[in-house]
Amino acid sequence: MGRLIIISNRLPFSIDHEGDQLNLRQSSGGLVSAIKSYFESDSSTNRGFTEKLWLGVADFPQNEWSIVEEKLSGLDFQIVPLFVNKLLYKDYYNGFSNSVLWPLFHYFPNLVESNVHYFDAYVKVNRAFADKLIPLLEPDDTIWIHDYQLLLLPEMIRAEKADAAIGFFLHIPFPSYELFRTLPAEWKTSLVRGVLGSDLIGFHTHDYAQHFLQSAKMILGVDSSFHAMQYQDRLVKADLFPISIDYKKFNRACSDLETKQYYNEIIKNFDSRKIIFSVDRLDYTKGLMDRLNAYEHFLDQYPEWREKVVFILNIVPSRDDIQAYTERKQQIEQKIGTINGKVSTITWQPIIYRYTHLPFNELAALYKAADVALITPLRDGMNLVAKEYVASCSGRKGVLILSELAGAANELNEALLVNPIDTIEVSNAINRALTMPEEEQEHRMFLMQQRLSDYDVIKWVSDFLDQLANVKQEQLKQQ
Ligand code: UDP
Repeated sequence: MGRLIIISNRLPFSIDHEGDQLNLRQSSGGLVSAIKSYFESDSSTNRGFTEKLWLGVADFPQNEWSIVEEKLSGLDFQIVPLFVNKLLYKDYYNGFSNSVLWPLFHYFPNLVESNVHYFDAYVKVNRAFADKLIPLLEPDDTIWIHDYQLLLLPEMIRAEKADAAIGFFLHIPFPSYELFRTLPAEWKTSLVRGVLGSDLIGFHTHDYAQHFLQSAKMILGVDSSFHAMQYQDRLVKADLFPISIDYKKFNRACSDLETKQYYNEIIKNFDSRKIIFSVDRLDYTKGLMDRLNAYEHFLDQYPEWREKVVFILNIVPSRDDIQAYTERKQQIEQKIGTINGKVSTITWQPIIYRYTHLPFNELAALYKAADVALITPLRDGMNLVAKEYVASCSGRKGVLILSELAGAANELNEALLVNPIDTIEVSNAINRALTMPEEEQEHRMFLMQQRLSDYDVIKWVSDFLDQLANVKQEQLKQQ
């Protein structure tokens, strides 16, 4: 077995400057947590990668690399930093990735900013990744590329390294062809060809995989059968690998001393009130405004719940240098102010709002304390928060209200599934959740917990790597 090379837009850590000091902070995103949990588990030992490398764009200037490198000794991965000019990075990341692909793939075509400079920058940065990687490659390497910022990279590598083992995973939805086709011809053709440079292409859900296969058929005429294609005389598979969480970590967190301290404080502060909780990045896909409208409607429609319920809404800062995000923050905060101003009493406020990152144990305590998790994105590739809530309900009490438009809804069928823009449906679901008998809560939680503990993030990583190895074997048999 050779080396594993993970490639993602960002490296698995970031650098904080504190005066003259540089501090390294490990990222807590879904991919980094997944890979970390996998390599801490027994499953990874059987695979026996000789080395592990991680290639991504550095968030520090090139002249700081030698100082950063010294601080990396605790990391499991050999880090390969890519240094990209700031203006170019802005057009590639804020531009094409987050103002074209992100809105389009989440079904917000009206927010797409079609700017040719953005696409040029996207091609250049994908090319920079390829140029950095290719000279480092060895024959037995397994390359695993992640996400929508790097859709062109598989083809660029394949052009130089015909036999390379290349896996690609898309962490966001792949939209229906009717939406994807609205991109300019050059862009959509390049994107589909780019991804098809892989041997295995992973999606969260069956629908996303089907949407991709249909786009490949309509744009390039590539036929598929049972998720397999012959593309340029090479077998390529596109299949589903729903990402999960480190189930044990969240399940166990409830008994940590620190979590218990946060938990006791929450319970003390809210007496016997029921707690509804949600936590999301500030992103228009998360449906925050619709959620607030539904909660406002709920308080009007079911006034008997006033003073008996509190909605703890935590918004995590995100992409605040993109206009579409900053405008929404103001609107959301105004709405929260309106609801609180309208129905608060001297002893009760219906929404407790915070705009901050939460430490892990506080997040775990909030999951544990919440009687209801209200998770209603307008679109979401998966939504890990929903899974984390289920894993954290150690006593099996609690109700998950989940948008049917989140990828997680495919696995969490026992949640109360709602259409996130249907104010009345969401409002009724809140009432139903708050009045659900305990036995029913436990039964639903039990089924969801079983499913999540069976297919956790460690399985997700090993399943993807197994399937990639299988495709390479099948290709050999075809030769
Ligand atoms: N999360 C976090 N800091 C916080 C709140 C949440 O790191 O202050 C984590 C949360 O535990 C989850 C992730 O952020 O793992 C959010 O993932 P999700 O798939 O729900 O949404 P995304 O932000 O990726 O769109």
